[in-house]
Amino acid sequence: MLLNDPVILLAAITPFGLMTTLLLCLSYLGLGKHNTSLHWWLAGDLLIAAYHVAALLQPGVPSGALAWLPVFSPAAAHAVGTTLLITAVGAHTLALCHLLERGRSRRWHLRMLLGVPAVYLLGTAFTLHGAYAMAWFCAAMFASIAIQARVTCRMARSYRGAWGLLAGQAVLLAYQGSGTVMLVLHPLPPLPFHAPFFPSIDALLMDALVSFLLTLSYALALQEQLRQRIVSLSRTDSLTGALNRRGAGEIVEAEWQRARTNPHPLAIAMIDLDRFKGINDQYGHAIGDAALQAFSNTVLRLKRQSDVLVRWGGEEFLVLLPHTDVTQAHGFLQRLRDALHAGPVTPWLPFTLEFSAGVADTDTLASIPDFDALLREVDQALYRAKRERNRIEVVSPA
Ligand code: GH3
Ligand code: MG
Ligand code: MG
Repeated sequence: MLLNDPVILLAAITPFGLMTTLLLCLSYLGLGKHNTSLHWWLAGDLLIAAYHVAALLQPGVPSGALAWLPVFSPAAAHAVGTTLLITAVGAHTLALCHLLERGRSRRWHLRMLLGVPAVYLLGTAFTLHGAYAMAWFCAAMFASIAIQARVTCRMARSYRGAWGLLAGQAVLLAYQGSGTVMLVLHPLPPLPFHAPFFPSIDALLMDALVSFLLTLSYALALQEQLRQRIVSLSRTDSLTGALNRRGAGEIVEAEWQRARTNPHPLAIAMIDLDRFKGINDQYGHAIGDAALQAFSNTVLRLKRQSDVLVRWGGEEFLVLLPHTDVTQAHGFLQRLRDALHAGPVTPWLPFTLEFSAGVADTDTLASIPDFDALLREVDQALYRAKRERNRIEVVSPA
């Protein structure tokens, strides 16, 4: 059954309109006013709405209040609509990419958004009047949804909504894939130019239902991303990017338990920057802040992925080094000191940073009852180091 009534067609657009409005409301309620992912998803929704409007631009369709609309041949309106639809899938894929990661180049965005539409348009030049126009459309849709499904697979581990997205994409892939095969085997006659051409009602119904599933799943994934971001913000020190003490809590506990039950020691080092007050007094607090950032960046650059940096207090840092004994930890601190002594903190901070540190491991202090006791030992070692400054003091069993 073909839809040839613009009113019915507009009614079919309504679910898309409602979903777009819902997401717009969410965005302006502050759930992501500055959320790039949400902006790409909304752009995709608007492109889908434009796809439906394009279907109206055919001879004989705009009438009454819509009579002012320009009209195109059914085949041209179909090609324009399809291009908008494939671009919409690309915009939604970009939204999913932005849930996973940020900061990709402009060229990458253009490729994701316009790659498949460009190939589709190129092919359309050959198939527009031909019997394979619909098969080419299904194949292009299949390709753009397959790209989206590939991105979604990477989300499945960290976002609940990913499974709903994958289910919706599977339905679309099956629909467009079987459509491609069927239409290649039994090509439709070229699009008629004398009468408007509309999608069939089953295609529209499926589109609306799957779109609903995709939008709900996306909203779930977005909510999950916001939750993860809030948790991460609450655990991270905003100045240095190191963990704060709240964030360290769970990790410290887990590492301590691991060190108790497996043969590899856990080393910890407490670091305090030397004469830091002097830097603030001489250069001002802004420079002091920049120096703290530079120090933290140096540690983050030198440490292994499994090591954990915690900003313990003002200019005091705790480093957890799993699977490391005290000698290896001493070596790490030595490398850190060498890196800091190699030159000024940054080209525009005209001084070098020095630190004192206390360091211990769970092997040397095998009888230590808990992490707090280990921390006390390391703290006392730091105090001893501070007598001379620019020193690393190792806690010995005695
Ligand atoms: P010592 O070698 O004995 O450690 O001397 P110190 O000056 O580093 O030690 P002290 O504890 O007296 O001073 C720590 C200074 O660190 C004082 C404080 O102004 C500064 N500080 C702490 N947090 C921040 C921060 O977030 N930004 C800046 N700019 N300074 C900070
Ligand atoms: Mg200090
Ligand atoms: Mg201090």
